[in-house]
Order: sequence, then C-alpha cells, then structure tokens
Amino acid sequence: MNDLRKDPITGRWVIIATDRLLRPHDFQKTKIIEETSPDRCPLCPGHEAMTPPEIWRWENPDHSWSVRVIPNKFPVLRIEGDLLRRGEGMFDHISGIGAHELIVDSPVHSLTLEDYDAEQIFRILSAYKIRLDDLKKDARLRYGLVFKNFGMEAGASLRHPHSQLIALPIIPKNVKEELSSCRDYYELKERCLFCDIISDEMEHNKRIILESERHIALAPYASRFPFEICILPKKHEACFTRIGEKELKDLASLMDNILEALDRSLSSPPFNYMLHSRPFRVSERHPETTLDLDYHWHIEIIPRLTKIAGFEWGTGFYINPTPPEEAAKALREAID
Ligand SMILES: [Zn+2]
Ligand SMILES: [Zn+2]
Ligand SMILES: [Zn+2]
Repeated sequence: MNDLRKDPITGRWVIIATDRLLRPHDFQKTKIIEETSPDRCPLCPGHEAMTPPEIWRWENPDHSWSVRVIPNKFPVLRIEGDLLRRGEGMFDHISGIGAHELIVDSPVHSLTLEDYDAEQIFRILSAYKIRLDDLKKDARLRYGLVFKNFGMEAGASLRHPHSQLIALPIIPKNVKEELSSCRDYYELKERCLFCDIISDEMEHNKRIILESERHIALAPYASRFPFEICILPKKHEACFTRIGEKELKDLASLMDNILEALDRSLSSPPFNYMLHSRPFRVSERHPETTLDLDYHWHIEIIPRLTKIAGFEWGTGFYINPTPPEEAAKALREAID
C-alpha cells in the first residue's frame, strides 16, 4: 500500500507510491508518448470491460453513455483498509487510504478543446458533484480534489479526455493556506475574502474575462502563470456540491466559452484545472469553524505555457511574463 508521509519542516504531505515503484532504469528510457489508438483505448465505448467496474454513468435513452466514472486502475490511494495514523520515530505517517477515480469526459476518443460544448460540460460537472457528495459520506476522508490534466505536457497519461478525483484523509497544504487566509480575513472583517475580491474586480473591471448571470471568470491579480484563470460563483458559497441545476448550467456555459477562448488565443494549450471546494470535514481539533461563511469555492485553470525552474522551486515565487490585465484582454477578445 502507498504511504502518506508528512514533511516535518514544511508540513507538506507526500504520497510515496510504492505501488508504482520506479527504479533508475525506468527513468533512463527515452520517454515515448504512446498514442493509444481508439481500438486499444480502455476508455473508449465498447471497451468497458477493460476498466475496473463502473461507479457512475450519464446514461442516454439508447443506453449508451456520455460520461463514465470508474476507479483508477493504478490508484495513488485505495479505499480499502483502515486509516492508521502513526509516528515513525519523529515522523508522521498515514496509511494510503483514499479514493482515486477517473471521470471519462466523453465517449469521443480524440475530443479537442473546441469539441467540448456546454451540454457535455454540464454532464461532466454533474459527475463531479455526485461523486464528491458520495465520497463525503466516508468519515475517514477530509478532502476531495477534482482536477484535469489536459494534454501530455500537463501530465495526462491517457489521450482519451478525462478528469480525476482524488479523495484524501488529510487537507492538502495549498487548500489549508487558502482556508487560513480566508479565516483570518473573516475574523478581521466578517466578510468573505473571495466575495470582496469579486466585488473589487467588478468595480474596476481590469481583469474580468467573462461574466455570466451567476459566475465570473477572472485573471487573478497576482497570477502565477500566464493566462491563469479563476472561475467563481458570484453569490457566496463555500461548497461546490450545493450547486443547483440552474447554476450548474450557467457554469457549464461559462466554462465552454472560457475553454474556447483558450483554444482560440493559445491554440489548444495543455492545461490543468483544479476545483477547490470546502473540505468534507475539518480535523477534530478545530470543530468550531466559520468555514461555510469564510470560504468560497472556485476553479483554477492553469495553461502550461512556462516551466517551473530553480528560482520557483527555491523560493515559491513565480515569474509571470504576461500581466493578468493583458491576459484578460486577450481572452476577452477571443470570446465571440
Ligand atoms: Zn479512447
Ligand atoms: Zn464568498
Ligand atoms: Zn484555490
């Protein structure tokens, strides 16, 4: 079983994937990106038996599917087993309990960024909501992260378009940092930090990429990467899974426009997106929390246009050669 180990210096948790165990010679091979053809692709329709048993599907009236959720065949964390927290000398260790699911975005193997449409994005977002809600019931799990790696350079190992969901027995460091900023801000002002950012951005209108009735897409003020995008609900809400059908449709259509703008202005770049929603539960040490009032769910989209190098690794600083104001303008112009 894989290990979760805590770095005592930074407090960061690392998954030591003994299941994948790569030795020196595994890294010496020239990496060849394998272009799986649809007839051998485990995610293509007709090959359902090649994957572990299905968890959920968006079924069409003719019994075909539009979206499928399956367990990852090579999970980084496994759902079976007991959650054991223990010390190992001075170090902290948790058994690799969690969930690792794969959301097949579409039956179409070679779906391009342009091919995503609002209806299909709505089905994909519905799958996120249903699966997060279900995994939340597992008392061992504290956080569920939905993310997408689009394109090999963004870390996708399968060509067939898909998203992933990893549920963890801990709250990851990046989320913890957001939670504590939000809590500090709320303690001081009794307002949500993200809500204040939204109203400030709306007032000055320098970094807004697109607004729909219920959602807004921004280039964040201190964007780490060129063309970084943040999508948020305009009305305060900490938990993504409380989203209703109308809001979900609104979000799907906004995301459709944003993906199209990325495709047009940067000719289908590799990218990652991450859905940051409130944790399933916080630790027993902090039962009292204003989490639902101070946190605000959002989706971060990061086109992979620059590489992280020594300075970034050494400092946690980022050098972004595209001012977010310019990025917002270019993306705005790429939208019909
Ligand atoms: Zn396929
Ligand atoms: Zn808010
Ligand atoms: Zn975030």
